[in-house]
Amino acid sequence: MAAALELADLSVVYGGSNEALDGVSLSVPQGGFVALLGTNGAGKSTTLKAISGLLRFENGSVRRGSIRYMGQDIGAMPSYRRARLGILHVREGRCVFPTMTVEENLEAALFARGRRGPAVARRTYDEIFHYFPPLRERRQSSAGYLSGGEQQMLAIGRALFAQPELLMVDEASLGLAPKIAAEIFTILRQINEERGLSILVVEQNVALALRRADYGYVLEAGRIVEEGSAESLTNRESLSKRYLGGG
Ligand code: ATP
Repeated sequence: MAAALELADLSVVYGGSNEALDGVSLSVPQGGFVALLGTNGAGKSTTLKAISGLLRFENGSVRRGSIRYMGQDIGAMPSYRRARLGILHVREGRCVFPTMTVEENLEAALFARGRRGPAVARRTYDEIFHYFPPLRERRQSSAGYLSGGEQQMLAIGRALFAQPELLMVDEASLGLAPKIAAEIFTILRQINEERGLSILVVEQNVALALRRADYGYVLEAGRIVEEGSAESLTNRESLSKRYLGGG
């Protein structure tokens, strides 16, 4: 399948000298579900920020390599234009607006793709609530009062509201009970299959991500050290020892 996203030899530095990524190449096929795996500080979040264009807000810059989306080089594009192309990034830490209601949080997303209006909103509310039923019941609640799992659903739901074509989710499982984290990954898979959108997740919980993704890359100290289908990675001894609790 043709690639939606292609990173080639991407190298990123913070503050002009602190190298976070060193020659990362990866691709996300159209309609694919890809996981970028690795431990703390490996460079996973940096990779997503480079793709969405948020890097520049953190004093980071691409030193080498390219980022192509649907064949177009987007490396120099401001982040709002990347969002308008359909690249949506759910950042680590479920960044919802705590004093705004669930509905207001969702609506805020419409600006990301430059769309507004009640017709769009009505249609997409139903789509979001189809995937995340707890949000329907809490639609008038302040986001700050939601549980951790519901806040993560809202953060993903908000990105979905903007009709993404490539959805990137950073550490969806962080701080969630295993059952809730598994549920979120099941929903992500469902969205991927039913909506045909491409998904790139960043995860420390390797076993969980590989249960749902098609393909995975393992990042260590800014470099891809392993890659393969989710099934082959799950059975790979080098990974099983380090990341999957195997002996
Ligand atoms: P985590 O799961 O902890 O977020 P990660 O794999 O996502 O880990 P990154 O956050 O991408 O890793 O960090 C990669 C490297 O870049 C680390 O050494 C980190 O200290 C450094 N780094 C990240 N953000 C910045 C920043 N804004 N300024 C300077 N260095 C940074």
